[in-house]
Amino acid sequence: MLHYQPKQDLLSGKTLLVTGAGDGIGREAALTYARFGASLILIGRTLHKLQSVSQEIEQLTGKSADIYVLDLLTATHQEYTELAQSIAQKHAYLDGVLHSAGLLGVVSPIIEQPVVEWHEVMQVNVNGAFMLTQVLLPLLLKAPNASLVFTSSSVGKQGRAEWGAYSVSKFATEGLMQILSEEYKNSSLRVNCINPGRTRTSMRASAAPNEDPMTIKTPADIMPIYLYVMSDDSLRKTGISFDAQPARNVNITE
Ligand code: NDP
Repeated sequence: MLHYQPKQDLLSGKTLLVTGAGDGIGREAALTYARFGASLILIGRTLHKLQSVSQEIEQLTGKSADIYVLDLLTATHQEYTELAQSIAQKHAYLDGVLHSAGLLGVVSPIIEQPVVEWHEVMQVNVNGAFMLTQVLLPLLLKAPNASLVFTSSSVGKQGRAEWGAYSVSKFATEGLMQILSEEYKNSSLRVNCINPGRTRTSMRASAAPNEDPMTIKTPADIMPIYLYVMSDDSLRKTGISFDAQPARNVNITE
């Protein structure tokens, strides 16, 4: 477990956008950010899931969250542009963006990877994250200090048999993060990845159906690093791929 003791008002005054906010890690991150004082913009594919997160945020904090339904698989450049315009009408800038939405695709050897699913995984995990980032960068660059966070994976750093398109997409995610962090190294924008590690969500259950979910961490367990990257405690940290579940206890500021 990471030794990070966030203050209760850690994120107050910040406006944070989370993709994949309807379920799994993204849902938990949105709720956690709200609990620590942030205003939330929730992006996801399923309206009722976003509404339920928004209701929970309102119960917790008394503040309502903004909801935008966006399907990263099918959204056009025009839709991304309109989304950014509509956010800009309500918010002068964004203090942070967490890309948590992701698609697993089919776990199988490359020789059997279905071509259609391969393209879908690339579209959601890589192209969608790129297109959304591109339209949101102007809003991030207007913030006094902004944090852009991508979600990586262990198989995005070391290839593993049968993880196919998903693994390749996470290598691309690491690359996108590194390029952006270089491009903005002299700006107020920092760009990093988080590798959540094995976490109890429906994606993990599909990836490892024989694993006992009770033996792995929950999304709530890994929230310290998610708070850290969005808070001013991580100012000037950029180009880093953080592990939410490091193999050994380490000080995350190192
Ligand atoms: P979940 O499947 O629980 O959640 C994924 C979220 O992404 C869902 O809210 C889903 O929406 C959304 N999503 C999927 N496809 C699209 C799309 N086309 N457009 C918009 N949103 C979409 O997964 P996790 O919470 O486990 O995963 C979160 C991130 O963490 C992912 O990037 C994943 O790759 C990564 N990760 C997870 C690990 C784990 O062990 N859980 C380990 C390493 C990395 P909806 O609810 O509507 O389906």
